[in-house]
Amino acid sequence: MAAPGHVVFIGAGPGAADLITVRGARRLAQADVVLFDALTDPALRELAPQAQWIAVGKRGYCDSTGQASINAMLVHWAQRVTNVVRLKGGDPSVFGRLEEELLALAAAGLGCEVVPGVTAGLAAAADTQRPLTRRGTGRSVSLSTAMTRSGDLQAGQRADTEVFYMAGRQLAALGRSLRAAGWPGETAVCVVSRAGWPDRLSSDHSVAELGAAAVLHAGRPTVVTVGAGARALGHRARPANPAQTPVSAPAERTLSAS
Ligand code: SAH
Repeated sequence: MAAPGHVVFIGAGPGAADLITVRGARRLAQADVVLFDALTDPALRELAPQAQWIAVGKRGYCDSTGQASINAMLVHWAQRVTNVVRLKGGDPSVFGRLEEELLALAAAGLGCEVVPGVTAGLAAAADTQRPLTRRGTGRSVSLSTAMTRSGDLQAGQRADTEVFYMAGRQLAALGRSLRAAGWPGETAVCVVSRAGWPDRLSSDHSVAELGAAAVLHAGRPTVVTVGAGARALGHRARPANPAQTPVSAPAERTLSAS
């Protein structure tokens, strides 16, 4: 697939192995070495059984030493092996530290290719059947992290629909931060954990009551969609005091407020 000293970054998608792109699967099948993230599906190994699989995963914010050693490993393998794949959860360009890794390869004079993947926020929209854009009311979408480098939370109000990554452990704080940023307390929020996996979970909340989602999604990778794209189909505004009702659906447990 590639000249020596070439790395292919592949977006694995957010969950189930079949959410990888066809191009990603083809490149993976040619890999000699795969450096993979914690959030990628182990079933993806079946696409490259011949390759040496090396876990370099991390979750959430990682310190710069961790990233520096990943950069060094990429360069190390790209200098020795023809087909190196860097497999990342979701899309490599979204909160994936892709910039650092591209720069490290460029500094070593190594080439690369990036194959996109389905990012978690898009998988969450698909799982819940909540279009992120809505004609007339949802004209812009922002992918955000509320986490600052120091580990604090700082949410903004940048788009009609905002999708927050890496805030799953601090949902109550995210709710407070959203209110401080100007989102009305009754604004719709849809929380989805393990989007794209068979055991995905979703729940509906308001900005004011977002903290209530914490227990349900604890310990699971979670995205939080706020605003226009979080509303259930046909709902213009949230009821004032919603009760959560379990709804069973094939291959999915959903808690819905409406
Ligand atoms: N590059 C990835 C994001 C990596 S940052 C992508 O494009 O999806 C890691 C964060 O992504 C997690 O903290 C969580 O907020 C989110 N995430 C990753 N996989 C997820 C999943 N299957 N369901 C929900 N959120 C997920």
